[in-house]
Parts: sequence; C-alpha cells; structure tokens
Amino acid sequence: MAQGNIGVTSDNIFPVIKKFLYSDHEIFLRELVSNAVDATQKLKTLSSVGEFKGELGDTKVRVSIDKVKGTLTVSDHGIGMTAEEVDKYINQIAFSGAEEFLDKYKDNAQAIIGHFGLGFYSAFMVSKKVEIVSLSYKDDAKAVHWTCDGSPVYEMEDTIKAERGTDIILHIDDENKEFLEDSRIQSLLTKYCKFLPVEIVFGKKKEWKDGLQVDTEEDNVINNPSPAWTRKPEDLKDEDYDAFYHELYPTSMEQPLFHIHLNVDYPFHLTGILYFPKIKPHMDVKRDKIQLYCNQVFVTDEVENIVPEYLTLLHGVIDSPDIPLNVSRSYLQSDANVKKISGHITKKVTDALADMFRANREEFEGKWNDIKIFVQYGMLSDEKFYERAEKFCLLESVDHKFRTFDEYKELTEKEQTDKEGTRIYLYANDVDNQYTFIQRAKEKGYDVLLCTSPLDVHAMAQLEQKWEQKVRFVRVDSDIIENLIRKADTQAVTLTDEQKRALNSAFSSQLPTLDKARLNVTFEQADSTALPVFVTQDEWMRRMKDMSRLQGGMSFYGDMPDSYNIVVNTAHPLVASLVEKTDAAGAAEAHALYEQQQEKQAEISKIDEANKDKKYDEISQEDKDRKKALQDEVRGLEDKQSKIYADFAATEPRFKQLIDIALLAGSLLKGEQLAAFVNRSVELL
Ligand code: ADP
Repeated sequence: MAQGNIGVTSDNIFPVIKKFLYSDHEIFLRELVSNAVDATQKLKTLSSVGEFKGELGDTKVRVSIDKVKGTLTVSDHGIGMTAEEVDKYINQIAFSGAEEFLDKYKDNAQAIIGHFGLGFYSAFMVSKKVEIVSLSYKDDAKAVHWTCDGSPVYEMEDTIKAERGTDIILHIDDENKEFLEDSRIQSLLTKYCKFLPVEIVFGKKKEWKDGLQVDTEEDNVINNPSPAWTRKPEDLKDEDYDAFYHELYPTSMEQPLFHIHLNVDYPFHLTGILYFPKIKPHMDVKRDKIQLYCNQVFVTDEVENIVPEYLTLLHGVIDSPDIPLNVSRSYLQSDANVKKISGHITKKVTDALADMFRANREEFEGKWNDIKIFVQYGMLSDEKFYERAEKFCLLESVDHKFRTFDEYKELTEKEQTDKEGTRIYLYANDVDNQYTFIQRAKEKGYDVLLCTSPLDVHAMAQLEQKWEQKVRFVRVDSDIIENLIRKADTQAVTLTDEQKRALNSAFSSQLPTLDKARLNVTFEQADSTALPVFVTQDEWMRRMKDMSRLQGGMSFYGDMPDSYNIVVNTAHPLVASLVEKTDAAGAAEAHALYEQQQEKQAEISKIDEANKDKKYDEISQEDKDRKKALQDEVRGLEDKQSKIYADFAATEPRFKQLIDIALLAGSLLKGEQLAAFVNRSVELL
C-alpha cells in the first residue's frame, strides 16, 4: 500500500473548496458525471480508431446511492486509470503559486475549480471520504484503489475489479445527507445531465403496483444523448424542433413561433437552437430561460453576460466549449470570445428575421405582433441590431396594413408633411376610444398607426431622433387634426375677448369633476364639420406619463393628474348659436360689468406705465395700494360676470350636453355622469 501527500502545494485547498463552494456544492455531481462521460467518450474514440480492440459492451454511466453505507457512487465503463495515471491526474494537481491564487480567487470557487481542473476534488465538498476504484482498458492493467479522507494524505493499493472503468465512491458527510435522497439526485441529474452524450442511469424506472411505486426491469435513463442541437438541421423537421422545445421546457404549454439553429466552427465553436416564444404582456421572463451548455453539460441558465439583454427574451440552448465558464461574471463581459459570440448571435437572429421577411412577407406579418416587442427591444438597446432591423421592422396601421419604414415614409410623404416640412405620423393606441379622431384623420386622407406595445413610446422617440427627415409622432387625439398637421396658418378664433370670457365662464361652470383629471376650456376655430366641442390631451405631457409608467422612475410626471383640454370649436354653427344666446343673456348687466372692469383694467395699465422704469421698492405706497384695490375690484367684477353666465348656462342644457358629448367621444364619460347624459339626451329629444 502506498501513501503520500496530494501534490497540492497548499494544505488549505480542501477547506477552501468546502467553504467557498458551499452555495454551489451540488455541482460536484456534474463534475463527476462529466468525468465519467469523458472517460467513456475517450474509449469510444480509441475503439473507433482501432487502438482499443476489446468489446465496448455496456457504456452507460450509473449513479447509485447506498443509504445504509451512506455512499453515492458514479460508475463508468470508460478508459479507467492505472495506478500511474491516478498518481499523475489525481495526486499531482499540477499548479504553482497555489496560495497566491487561492487568495485572489477565494470568493470565486468556481474559478478555482475551472482553472485547475479540480473537478474531481469538488467531491470533497460533500464527502468525508472519497474512494476511486479503477481498472484501465490497457492490456494487463491492474486495478487500483485510492482513498482519501479530505486531508492532503491519500492511500493507494492494488485491488480486484472485474470490469473495466472507474467507480467514484463518495462517503457523504453529515451536513450533506440530502445527496443520499433519490429525489434530490434525480433532480440534480435532470438539471445538469439531461443532454450529456452518454446515457446516464439512475436506478430503475418505476411503476405503480397495488398503490405502491415499484422498480421495473428497465433502466431509468436520465438523459437524451443526442439532443436536437447536436444534430444536423437537414435531419430535423419542424416537429422535431417543437418536440425538443418541450424537452427543454417540460412545463411550458406554449408552442414556439419559430427557431434558429446555430452552428459555428470559426472563429469559435458554438452550436445551439434559439426559439422565438410568443411574448405576452405578463410573461414570466424568469421562467423559461436560454440554457448554456458546454459540450452538452449544463452550465447555467444565467446567460445575461453572454448574450445581449434583449436576446434573453428568447428561449433555447447555446453550447460552446469556448466560453470560459468558470470565471467571474465581470470577466465574462470583457472576454473577447464572449463578445464575438454575442455579436454573432445577434447577426444570426437578425439574419433569420430578414430571411423570413424576404421569403414570406405574409407569414412574417402574421407573426409580427409576437416578435415586435423583441425587435423593438433590440433596436432600442443595440445600434447594430437597429441597423439590421431597420429593413424589416414594420409599422402597423389601424386598418392592420403593415409597412416597412421606407414604405411608410413614401406613403405619408405627400399628405402628412406640415407647412414647416415636418413629417407628422399619427398614431392611436386605442382604436375604440379614439375612433372619432381616427375618423377625422382618415377623412383628411391621413394614415393612423396602431401603437399598443409598451415600448412604442420609446421606439417613437428613437425614430424621431434618428431619421434624417424631421418627423414627429403625435397621438391622433392630442389635438384637432388641423392643428396636428398644420397645412396653413390656423384661423384665429373670431370671438371678441368679452365673448370668449363669457363662453369660458358658461362652459367652465358646467364641467364635471373627474377623478385624477383636470379639465380646461380652450377655443379653436377648427372646422364646421368637426365636433362642436372635443377633448384633447397634450402629446408631450402624455408621453412623459406613459414613459414614467413603464420605467417606474420619473414619478414626478406619473403623479400628476391627467390634464385635458375641452376644446370649443368656434367654427361650429351650434357654438355660434350659443355665443349669440350667451351674449343676449349677458345683455344689460354683464356688459355693464365688463365695461367697468375694462375701465379698472385701463387704470391699472396707467399705474404700471407710470412706474415701468422703477424697481418695486421705488414705487410709491399710494400707487401700490391703489393697484391692489383695483385688482380686487376687477376680480370682483369678473366673479359677478362669471356668475351671470354660469346661471345662464345652468338654464341652457346644451352646454352640459356638448361637454358630455366631447367626454363621451374621448371615453371619459363614465358611471353616474354617463347615466345623467343619457337621461338628459332623452329629455332634449
Ligand atoms: P478535469 O476533468 O478538468 O481534467 P478532474 O480533476 O475532474 O479535472 O480530473 C482530472 C483527471 O483525472 C481527468 O483529466 C482524467 O484524466 C482523470 N479522471 C477523472 N475521472 C476519471 C474517470 N471517471 N475515468 C477516467 N479518468 C478520470
């Protein structure tokens, strides 16, 4: 029996492994099974080139638990190891400067394991003792038995082993008893070994018999050794891709939209399949994530540093031996290979979309609403993606016609350029509620886009910034159409100041109070065919609010009440008749008040004129007092006038009726107010 010290220059390697891998200690199983698979693959290779002439026989890797002995064993029928090889590969962990390294990476045990090939030693994270029993494939090889209890001292002796290959026997320590549970091991194997290239067996398949689960004769094979991504695209049908999707995500009920098979040999190796899922508003993006494999060994589904963030919306697998898997995350981000891979995947994805767009535009349009948010996300976050997607990104109109940017620019060139030369793109985000505005726009020969995705406001802001031609996106209900696309100077409102004030008082007195919304009366000489009164909402303010809803920040805007304009269309005959009646109602009394008020106002102007070059301190107290008194009087007179018009408006139901019609057209009339409107309409009829 031989005894010796494991060739790690530092005594503290095991404590480090135990301590720092605590959170991740389940990966020992991945490491051991991967080693077993490697050994099996090596033997298959030797056999295929004629260097191994014996029978391959059963090459399955078996994982088993002995609850009585407290052991977990990983057995393979691979190449095995001779005593010399155990000494070389296990005892002499060849590295220098171990202490320095351990110190540097002590927070990242993954790095230690990856860097030094300590895969096997991860067994000590969960074991108080580890045994290796191995018989090499080589002719006349003697079986070897190696034991180590976690101190740097090992024992090695000859032994008897009937079959070629290696058994790794872990004596699970007290803190890690969970690894003696069938269900725990089954789920770990499913997580890490689901697609390993050699069959992995864990016990027997079970069946229900007389109300009990009993073993069948059949091996419980964990994995699919030749998953779809390792096969040639020519050999796979759409059904195979769909089936593989469900193999990857067994709990998903969805069907993917389409897939992209990745296959790169140069300048790095990468295979994989990416799926476009249907992206739904409340999708749990955390659930079905892209899985990263290294030679079919599951590594992680935290791929944020390997693919751009918008690609994490996709599903599927990426398998690359060239991604440095066991290094820290910040290192990953700066790794040149990782950058190349990310760029490559972006290119592949945009190529696939561009191909589909070219080959079958109808199909592409059919899927557009499912991929739109992904494309927008990509365009907003990656300049390269934008450049590629510009050609196939679609704009959908309210009549469900789809156009590319270029097509849309052409469509709107003639009609939707305003007098300043700015192209105005109209959009609606709620076809039912904005119906009257959409209709008005259509009557003018304008197109209206349909923008309902949460990223639309951001996408619009991006296009407004990027496109050479000056463009502005405005929601179709943010003003009257004549103002949205100004073709000529707008007509001035024809009312006198007194008439405006009178009408303003009359309408304002009849405004309902809305929850979290402010209403404000304005005038517009629109068009006699437009509604007599309508509601608009400022585009800029609304966009700020929309963005703040999406981002959570900017709550200053989010907290502000919505503010709407109640626009009185002075060109409408109904309004003209109300102006007349209001004038008449104000006849003697209000007119007299108005005149008095104008006189006071003139006096104020005189005082201001006389003091215009003085600083506030230099103005005489007398003037100050006089001005204040006049202002109070003006206000008093205004209030009196307002009251006269408000009293009049209360007797003239058309004011309220017109306001309610406008609110109704803008979908702001609800509940009690809606019921009152209906009743009043009946009465008026
Ligand atoms: P790595 O697998 O990264 O090289 P390990 O510490 O896991 O590092 O293993 C060290 C070496 O021990 C392997 O490269 C291999 O030569 C040998 N080895 C480990 N497990 C087995 C096994 N089950 N069969 C044959 N050789 C093995």
